[in-house]
Amino acid sequence: MQRNVWRIGAASVALALGAGSASAAEEVNVYSARHYDTDTRLYEGFTEATGIEVNLIESEADQLIERIRAEGANTPADVLITVDAGRLWRAEEADILQPISSKVLEESIPESLRHPEGEWFGFSQRLRVIVYAKDRVQPDDLASYEDLAEPEWQGRVCIRSSTNVYNQSLVASMIETNGVEETEAWAKGLAENMARQPAGGDTDQIEAVAAGECDVAVVNHYYLVRLMKSDDAADREVADAVGVIFPNQDGRGTHANVSGAGVVKGAPNRDNAVELLEYLTTEQAQVYFAEGNNEFPVVEGVEVDPILAAWGDIKTDDLNAAKYGENNSEAVKLMDRAGWK
Ligand code: FE
Repeated sequence: MQRNVWRIGAASVALALGAGSASAAEEVNVYSARHYDTDTRLYEGFTEATGIEVNLIESEADQLIERIRAEGANTPADVLITVDAGRLWRAEEADILQPISSKVLEESIPESLRHPEGEWFGFSQRLRVIVYAKDRVQPDDLASYEDLAEPEWQGRVCIRSSTNVYNQSLVASMIETNGVEETEAWAKGLAENMARQPAGGDTDQIEAVAAGECDVAVVNHYYLVRLMKSDDAADREVADAVGVIFPNQDGRGTHANVSGAGVVKGAPNRDNAVELLEYLTTEQAQVYFAEGNNEFPVVEGVEVDPILAAWGDIKTDDLNAAKYGENNSEAVKLMDRAGWK
């Protein structure tokens, strides 16, 4: 059995999956910033369906991008998988992805969730939502991201740092919709309404709401679901204390982002890479891909996690996620000017 195992630094994991043959087996080399148990089943399913062996390297997104860039024309990488269109854009900017044209991908993935030239495709969707303290907030009082800058929320908002790509992508989307000037005024109002200097990740913001440090927080939906499903009773208590608002239902819809993948420029197994991406749109793969992080499948008709399904129909912003990358540097500068730490 052929095993190609690479290591890239202490933090990374490398493993080979699937049943290869002793000779030159068909293979695909995947660099992934995702680290979920269901991914293993995902790649096993692909090998079963196609006979193509998956060689997997897991590491942080920025490390993987830098690694592929440094390897240049000699990179063994075929597929890069990572989260947030802002990061996929970094890969695009590093010039390490190639455009892919595939009927399967174009027909099954909504246009707003893939790169216009096929440099990357979204395979699951995450929403940036508002959580609120059930005992202190009337959810009807807060309908949009824009509302968070209103004076009534002074000293009541928790949100993580402006260095975080999720917030950068949110602001980038608002620049596209509302323009720089209006978005900057909003960011300034938001910064003034913060209950504390930004600290920690999205889970910390939810915990701060439950603990009474703030009344509302902006977080990706799966952090809340993770707390809801936790084996730890303390986590479930935190989740119980908060409700969730899907912003901008009366307007453009809630800000949506993706976990996605692209084919690497110069991929030695390009056809296998495309086959893997196409496999990720199958029903079984969609379930595994979404389930690993409690995200929404992107392909219509695929079964959604019961907790997500219970939230009902959610209107999402159909702005193309590639815009989050295009507006990223403007967003970063704007947040800095607005005093968003
Ligand atoms: Fe996350």
